Amino acid sequence: MYHRFQEMLSKVLLYTKATDFFWKRLPSGLYVFNYHRIGVAEASGYDHAIFSCSSEAFDEHVLKLKENFTIINCAQLAEILEQEVLTDKRYAIITFDDGYVDNYTHAFPILKKHNVSGSFYIATDFVDSNHIPWWDEIAFILRNSCGEAYQLPSSNYSFVLDSANINQTIRQIMNAAKLLRNYSILEVLDDVRAKFPTAVKKLKLTEPKLFMNWSQINEMANSGMEIGSHTLSHRILSQLSREEQKQEVSNSKKLIEAKLSCQITSIAYPVGRYHCYNQTSFEEVKEANYLIAFNNEPGSHRSISNQFDINRYCVARDDINYLRFECCFK
Ligand SMILES: [Zn+2]
Repeated sequence: MYHRFQEMLSKVLLYTKATDFFWKRLPSGLYVFNYHRIGVAEASGYDHAIFSCSSEAFDEHVLKLKENFTIINCAQLAEILEQEVLTDKRYAIITFDDGYVDNYTHAFPILKKHNVSGSFYIATDFVDSNHIPWWDEIAFILRNSCGEAYQLPSSNYSFVLDSANINQTIRQIMNAAKLLRNYSILEVLDDVRAKFPTAVKKLKLTEPKLFMNWSQINEMANSGMEIGSHTLSHRILSQLSREEQKQEVSNSKKLIEAKLSCQITSIAYPVGRYHCYNQTSFEEVKEANYLIAFNNEPGSHRSISNQFDINRYCVARDDINYLRFECCFK
């Protein structure tokens, strides 16, 4: 209901060309906009929901953000925080999580064209690998099992996998899977694999290169983009022991610094909702000498009480104007 209202308002204002008026009236402070994949979701056999927008839309987003914000990166934010003046301007940071290869092929050229620095958060185990994250694998297997039905473990409800609305069904299954009490998402992945062996065989025939390699990341770093850590394995930090959290946070930083010969100052918590990191995460991030850490909770900052808990707005559609209203309400 709330989203429908936001969408309607966005359309009305876009139609009346009133959005510029509203962007210009956004209060000063820090606004961080987080992207994942850039490109055409429909062309992908994997998870469509992880696509933030098309390349054409991203070009427009960067222009809109440039018009309405002073775009900075995390190193600059750390300097600004030393002076404690966030309220003199509207600052924006453009971030990307996970390190998908389209960050290099699609987003990087657009950022370079507009002379804007983006901050890219890399899960180092994914770099230079054929890794398929659980969300992409579940989506691929279900997408390639149309005509069948799927019941989550311990559930009596049967989802019909129909090609006409497969993306919606995949989303419903993922959302329901995250709510299961006795099964982790990786156990759901095992269950999906066991139930649809034909789609698994098809997946094994693909040799996906979903993520960037070190040479691409290096080129971006040398062209003014900022690289940060998204941990080693993308496991949810709050579910790990202190020692495991330390390794995820500290070793990923050391590895990126060794590969790129530069200082890494920021980290983005995997998944990043409030329940996905904890006090131990703050302590380990501080201990590893990070200056900034991002979550994935929407919200702007007029001041920063904890530099290891900075909110980000998740970009999830082509029309960026809907975010203008999210910036109002959250
Ligand atoms: Zn992520």
